[in-house]
Amino acid sequence: METWLIAVGIVVGILLGYPMEILVERVPGRESLSPPWIVCAQCGTGNNSLWSLTPLGIVHHLRECGNCGASRAYPFRPLIMAAVTAVVFAGNVVRFGAHADLAAYDLLAVGLIVLSVIDLERMIVPVLVFYPTLFSFSALVIASSLLDNRLSHFWVAIIAGVVCFLIFLAIHIIVPQGMGFGDVRLAGLLGIATGWISAQVVLVGFVVAFGLGAFIGILLMLVKNYGSKSRLPFAPFLVAGTFVALMWGIPIARVWLHFHY
Ligand SMILES: [Zn+2]
Repeated sequence: METWLIAVGIVVGILLGYPMEILVERVPGRESLSPPWIVCAQCGTGNNSLWSLTPLGIVHHLRECGNCGASRAYPFRPLIMAAVTAVVFAGNVVRFGAHADLAAYDLLAVGLIVLSVIDLERMIVPVLVFYPTLFSFSALVIASSLLDNRLSHFWVAIIAGVVCFLIFLAIHIIVPQGMGFGDVRLAGLLGIATGWISAQVVLVGFVVAFGLGAFIGILLMLVKNYGSKSRLPFAPFLVAGTFVALMWGIPIARVWLHFHY
């Protein structure tokens, strides 16, 4: 039964890549989300085709503007987002099964991937993506918590969210140029998401995030003279750490912390 659900997850993930591209392009500037879906950055000429919202939209994304001949800035970005979303959706099916949690974590994944791409490009974690993700994920997780009578998970999630928020707030106050407040808010959400599984999974998520951040940071410093004054967007690392923790956090915690269930 799980196999068809994995297939559904992959298909839905691929289909979401292109609508997510619209969010990435328009939310930071608070632009309208209505069509035309593809607008030329040079001359503003729009393309109304509904196909551009499907994977076939890659044709539109690769094509130069018919009016001024300008090429698209990121033709492969929606394709990459579609692939990442499909992989995470498939992983979520394996991890959570046909369960109420699945909807919550799929929704979370879409929000987190959009946030990460925007942070990579513009160094901001936009509230217009963050708060809808936080509230809808929380509502779904509380609903599934009530459905399964697993309220103890609910409390671990709340406590983990508050603790992560406060730790990141302390880092933000000590080194404001190193950690933006967007990352502080995001850490709270990720604490809730991993805390819903267990406190050990929260720890795995943040250790992986900081490990990846340090590794990539040092690599960039060595390779392209990335100065200490240039800030690294931290949301993608937090999100990657969270995905790893949600997927493999329990076995990793077992090895690291000799934690036995
Ligand atoms: Zn144009």
